[in-house]
Amino acid sequence: MKRRDFIKKASAGTIVAGAALASGCSKASDSTAAAPAVASGKKITWKMVTTWPMNFPGLGTGANHLAEKIGEMSGGRMTVKVYGAGELVPAFEVFDTVTTGTAEMGHGATYYWKGKDPALQYFAALPFGMTATEMNAWLLHGGGLELWAEAYERFGLVPMAAGNTGVQMAGWFNKEINSVADLKGLKMRIPGLGGEALERAGGTPVNIPGGEIYTSMSQGIIDATEWVGPYNDLAFGLHKVAKHYYYPGWHEPGPTLECMVNQKAYNALPDDLKAIVKAAASSANEYMLAEYNARNKDALAQLKNDHSITPQPLPTEVLENLRGYAAEIIDEMANSSPLATRIHKSYSDFYEGAVQWSNISERAYLNTRPG
Ligand code: CA
Repeated sequence: MKRRDFIKKASAGTIVAGAALASGCSKASDSTAAAPAVASGKKITWKMVTTWPMNFPGLGTGANHLAEKIGEMSGGRMTVKVYGAGELVPAFEVFDTVTTGTAEMGHGATYYWKGKDPALQYFAALPFGMTATEMNAWLLHGGGLELWAEAYERFGLVPMAAGNTGVQMAGWFNKEINSVADLKGLKMRIPGLGGEALERAGGTPVNIPGGEIYTSMSQGIIDATEWVGPYNDLAFGLHKVAKHYYYPGWHEPGPTLECMVNQKAYNALPDDLKAIVKAAASSANEYMLAEYNARNKDALAQLKNDHSITPQPLPTEVLENLRGYAAEIIDEMANSSPLATRIHKSYSDFYEGAVQWSNISERAYLNTRPG
């Protein structure tokens, strides 16, 4: 009887929305814990530092979405102010800034923090690794997020998946790539594990920030560059500095973007706000991938129709060579620590099964479509 009354009241809006609805049917102790912040009307304000320029399409707007959702869902009890890269701290200081609690929250990608622990790269993207759909499956239903939480606990951080670009493009090249020999001596902007694979294939990987890519290409400082995909690449004008646009993005097949939260700040939140932060990250995770898929298709049409760019596939031989080198590099990473070995086992076991399922679902279905 009491429970029915509660439901009636909640649907009639007589209970404070944030506290009651987010706690749902949880234990009585949860709602007790949430009570003080509601009762005192205390507003919580957090800072979110990001590795992206402010409002950067896709990545930055995804971070904005996360902050907006927290404000909306909490009915204004909690607000998050977003800082673009360089506003509060430079992009690559986001991790330390959230660890120390100078900002309570950060938005970035774990492969930027490989200096802290190489194994963190499993939680963003591996060359020839899992797609966005498969990454979400592993993180949310395959034990991936638990391992990520364990890896971040040492740093006083709580991780959440909070965005994905989907499959990226292999990049822009100033010459055709017909064989693996064409990679020899190639100076390419390609960070992370993909860059290491290129190096083993005889190329020279360079890591330069997004904002310097156009100039580096136009001045011939680099011969090739990857960035993201049609949406972001078109906005940077990369079609003006290189004519050969290759696919697929073997090095970033579906990178997960992250929301990292300072553990102390997170633990101090009432349970309903904790749930709201998690739900907002989950919303950003879905929203960003949808934005990329929607905008990439439009930008691809523009590149083809207005700029006469015809994307080309990388030759199978080139991809096979890169896959071999990537496997060597990933094996070395797997042996870098006991935790890395466990993460690797979880990732690779999941990957094997995911490939079997994807082959007879997504891949099989996509192959039925006319080209
Ligand atoms: Ca990229």
